[in-house]
Amino acid sequence: MKPVLALVGRPNVGKSTLFNRLTKSRDAIVADYAGLTRDRHYGQGRLGNREYIVIDTGGFEPEAGEGSIFREMAKQTRQAIAEADAVIFVVDARGGLSGQDHDIAKELRRLGKTCVLVANKAEGMTEGAQLAEFYELGLGEVVPVSAAHGQGVRSMVEAALDTL
Ligand code: GDP
Ligand code: MG
Repeated sequence: MKPVLALVGRPNVGKSTLFNRLTKSRDAIVADYAGLTRDRHYGQGRLGNREYIVIDTGGFEPEAGEGSIFREMAKQTRQAIAEADAVIFVVDARGGLSGQDHDIAKELRRLGKTCVLVANKAEGMTEGAQLAEFYELGLGEVVPVSAAHGQGVRSMVEAALDTL
């Protein structure tokens, strides 16, 4: 069985861009605005000779526009987390930490799901100061990546597969 990695995070952090890079497909729709990819997309990735399945999710876009993150989480996204062996939790290094990030972190902890915390859009950033706030999520190491430029993506996958 190939391990399953799910990309999870609030809208617009770059999950679909990462998905496309990992799967080298255009299966996921990369949008310039939040919340377009609402359903799950599966792809296949490979790191050396290790193959894995990756799931892109539409994020935690509110369905009714209010309520807790638990209600807001699309059912399919929750299913993707359940299906995953490990979650790649993507935050936005430029946008900074948000309440939604905290809610997602809480949910991942509640589910006891193995996860790797990834700060995307980190191109051109010197590590340290700008990423420090993400340690507040209590999920340990923050892996800086740039999905758009392909930086750190390999280390990210390695970190996720190594948790298994
Ligand atoms: P999703 O909603 O999480 O799936 O995010 P998308 O993959 O659709 O990306 C949202 C926006 O962020 C798009 O405008 C992307 O071009 C942009 N984006 C994605 N990755 C990067 C990155 O590494 N650096 C920068 N600067 N922008 C990025
Ligand atoms: Mg998307």
